[in-house]
Amino acid sequence: MSTFGNEPFDVIVVGSGPGGATVARDLSRRGKKVLILEWGPGGPIRGNLVQYVKELMVPGKSLLITNGMLGLVRGITTGGSSLFYYGTCFPVPLEMFAACGVDLAADVEEIRRELPIARLKDEMFTPMAGRLMDSARHLGFDWQRLEKFMYQERWKPEFRFGYYGDPNDVKWSARMHVDDAVAHGAVLTNGAKVTRVIVENGTATGVECTMKGEKHTVSAPIVVVSAGGIGSPMIMRNSGIKEAGYDFFFDPLITVCGTIKDVALRNNEIPMSAGVLMKDEGYIMTDMAIPPSNHMVFTAQVLRLDKLFAFRHTARIMVKAKDVQSGRLTDRGGVRKKLTGTDLDKLFHGYANARRILREAGATDIYKTWYLAAHPGGTVKIGQLLDANLQSQYRNLYVCDCSVVPEAWGLPPVLTVAALGKRLARHLAGRQF
Ligand SMILES: Cc1cc2nc3c(=O)[nH]c(=O)nc-3n(C[C@H](O)[C@H](O)[C@H](O)COP(=O)(O)OP(=O)(O)OC[C@H]3O[C@@H](n4cnc5c(N)ncnc54)[C@H](O)[C@@H]3O)c2cc1C
Repeated sequence: MSTFGNEPFDVIVVGSGPGGATVARDLSRRGKKVLILEWGPGGPIRGNLVQYVKELMVPGKSLLITNGMLGLVRGITTGGSSLFYYGTCFPVPLEMFAACGVDLAADVEEIRRELPIARLKDEMFTPMAGRLMDSARHLGFDWQRLEKFMYQERWKPEFRFGYYGDPNDVKWSARMHVDDAVAHGAVLTNGAKVTRVIVENGTATGVECTMKGEKHTVSAPIVVVSAGGIGSPMIMRNSGIKEAGYDFFFDPLITVCGTIKDVALRNNEIPMSAGVLMKDEGYIMTDMAIPPSNHMVFTAQVLRLDKLFAFRHTARIMVKAKDVQSGRLTDRGGVRKKLTGTDLDKLFHGYANARRILREAGATDIYKTWYLAAHPGGTVKIGQLLDANLQSQYRNLYVCDCSVVPEAWGLPPVLTVAALGKRLARHLAGRQF
């Protein structure tokens, strides 16, 4: 038996984040034989710091530092970044996709029926999130509770949020779709890093990957590359599509912190419980809770050593901007992209507003943390390198993840990426192959 089993596969899906996992699940449920090749490990979700560091923080692999000194993380594990994400659901930019001939409305509705998407119930909304919300509203901001991908009925007050992966399965992650795909006959192979797509006479026929240092090839009539905003353009370039990985977005962010003495953070804080979209200004502000380890790193980074142990009373607002598309990925996967003046202006505008909200909430000693980047995408754009069905210039080679997004829009993309996956699965299921 080969490493991948003896049966022939209908579809190879590369990567198992929200894009790949959705395609794999929906195709498997429609009776297609799917092979999922995932670079990262599987195994149980332990939800501890060790797993978090191994799967999200390995320099040069899951933690990338740009030439502008921004940290950018991506989950290299089954479920991709969604294992560690904050579970916030933002609406899909339907008009942006419609302009490229992609109608996602029905797929979004289907996902909303299938997944646990709702604003947090009162018991899950903590006093710190409430204090920031009251202050923002008092200043006139339209600060609302945000929708979350969470099975709220499973939540218990003693549960911590799944920053490090959620062993209690309250936070939905794409790993649940992978499990569903496998339950419907898909084969998941972990530790398989796909290097390129094999193309014969302009048609994709399989992929090449490395496992434990050995090279393997595996064939299927359809290949879907879903290796994320950085991974997919690398594979496309190695497969001959050299234009991949230019002029992309990465949603830069800062957090703005202050000390509030009369409210203490609880162990069960949930990040991004509520916030406001500053559409005209081009950024969002939300409350932001992070684990104590991250608080110490972020605080030390900006030399606020006096605040190193002030975790319990630190109120935090995240400001995340819609950046100008620019930059390039190097052939080794390095990120070359600097913040433009426009990007910095947006972040500073947000910083000023976040300061006002924190002050209104009674915070003192306000400071901001260093820049981070959150959601790389737009590296293999629809309309440029892909048609409206997400097919590339090579027949039977598709891309489905955050890299296909045609323009920056600055918002967390999981619902959008999952909707693209659902649409692609429907399209492929209707094809003869
Ligand atoms: C800390 C954090 C918080 C976030 N919070 C939110 C949030 O609240 N809401 C939201 O909508 N979004 C959030 N995001 C962003 C969101 O998680 C990602 O945008 C989303 O997961 C992207 O999905 P994807 O399918 O494009 O790629 P990914 O999730 O990156 O998945 C790509 C997969 O491909 C695999 N892979 C990569 N290269 C290869 C290769 N060569 N061969 C085989 N496999 C490969 C990876 O291991 C991974 O499993 C957050 C991200 C982070 C890091």
